Amino acid sequence: MQESNLLLATARAKLEEMLLARGLRRSSERFAILEEVYSRNDHFDAEDLYQAMHQKSYPVSRATVYNTLEVLVECGLVSRHQFGDNDKVRSRYEKSLGRQQHAHLVCTVCHRVTEFCDPRLHLIKTNVGQSMQFQVDSHSLVFYGHCTDGDCGNVNE
Ligand SMILES: [Zn+2]
Ligand SMILES: [Zn+2]
Repeated sequence: MQESNLLLATARAKLEEMLLARGLRRSSERFAILEEVYSRNDHFDAEDLYQAMHQKSYPVSRATVYNTLEVLVECGLVSRHQFGDNDKVRSRYEKSLGRQQHAHLVCTVCHRVTEFCDPRLHLIKTNVGQSMQFQVDSHSLVFYGHCTDGDCGNVNE
């Protein structure tokens, strides 16, 4: 089995378990949304997801998209970010199963989101934790700026 299929299977099982535990309906829409989320590699908002479902001829209501995202965040299958590059407050999401901890570059012009990993972040976390006597469980780091590759403004993520 491909790694992505394996991830999706694990994610489905986890969602199923969560819906059962909560007494929520295990509707096919929720699983279709999960599948869409796990087929993407970007940082999308709820509207992107809603549009994508419609383009794939799997129309679901906005309410279903929103409340399924809530459930996915709560069971740790999706991470939610509040990037501050936009006047509108809109959460952006990405799949989280099988993903490494990473930091983000957010373009305030075209709103493109890029990821990077730097092992020094782990060092900082350890050092600060030790010197401040603080157990660091997670962190988020976002750099805001703009693209310098000349393509900025042509993408609409
Ligand atoms: Zn990311
Ligand atoms: Zn840009």
